[in-house]
Amino acid sequence: MDKKNFKYLFGPVPSRRLGRSLGVSPIPPKTCNFSCIYCQLGRTTNFTNKREEFYPVEEIVAELTQALEQNIDIDYITIVGDGEPTLYKKLGTLISEIKKLSTKPVAIITNGALLYQKEVRTDLLEADVVMPTLDAFEANMFRAINRPHKELELNKIIQGMKTFREEYRNQIWMEVMLVKDLNDSSKTLKEIKKLIDFLEVDKTFINIPIRPPAEKWVKMPTQDRLLTAMKILGAESIFHYDEISIESVDSKADPETKILDITQRHPLREEQVFSLFPDFSEEQVLQILQKMENKGILELRIYNKKRFWEVPKEKK
Ligand code: SF4
Repeated sequence: MDKKNFKYLFGPVPSRRLGRSLGVSPIPPKTCNFSCIYCQLGRTTNFTNKREEFYPVEEIVAELTQALEQNIDIDYITIVGDGEPTLYKKLGTLISEIKKLSTKPVAIITNGALLYQKEVRTDLLEADVVMPTLDAFEANMFRAINRPHKELELNKIIQGMKTFREEYRNQIWMEVMLVKDLNDSSKTLKEIKKLIDFLEVDKTFINIPIRPPAEKWVKMPTQDRLLTAMKILGAESIFHYDEISIESVDSKADPETKILDITQRHPLREEQVFSLFPDFSEEQVLQILQKMENKGILELRIYNKKRFWEVPKEKK
């Protein structure tokens, strides 16, 4: 493989739900119809509810073809994006083309908000797993946590998810992001569970804001609350395992490029940066990080008593 730095691909990243997942991002950074308080990408800068072909689908497919020719060891190809991937207008074509290139299952991580649109539901029909999010059961809570685009209403979104369930034969795995004191009470969880049952999803997963969130006041629920939530929702948790180690798809890239490739998308815990470079000592990696911090392209943030490295917001 040449030293080309992939524009649309990242990973493979280990994921509890998806094994080794090769990420495909078809949208520009921070393009979303939500601006969730817990978003690890920071506040949404390109706030839109309009679907567009942000990049030519042929370019994305060409990159994927090049990556797959290297026989990378992966379990899933995951369309995820630095924002909301269903905003990509050629999503249906992209999924069809991926299916021609690979026999690996295709997953989509989405906030699910656009499932009320028939064209979005149709685009997703060929996917193997669709992973939407539901963090609230009523409009005020929805607005407080997800801060949606003004065209979006919770009732309409839930109805869209229900229609999708009726039309779609493959797996729907719901994710609920829990935020301390906002949606982690037993009363709220029971209401969310009613909606999950109504939507007849195949699995439910709980996530928590483990990485530095968009709003500094966002907190993770307590361990007790998490255990209660898992019981009430009949859900598994995903937050232990997705964080363990990480690697860059471009194995020959220089260390700074490798680190930036991932931190452009989300902050990295310091241990994860170490795991990117198994041949380097921790001191050597720290020197690289320090150099990047001195150049102003990376900054250190302490969150939940852990050290995270991220690209300064103004540089994203
Ligand atoms: S968490 Fe997802 S849905 Fe929410 S603002 Fe970030 S990218 Fe958008």
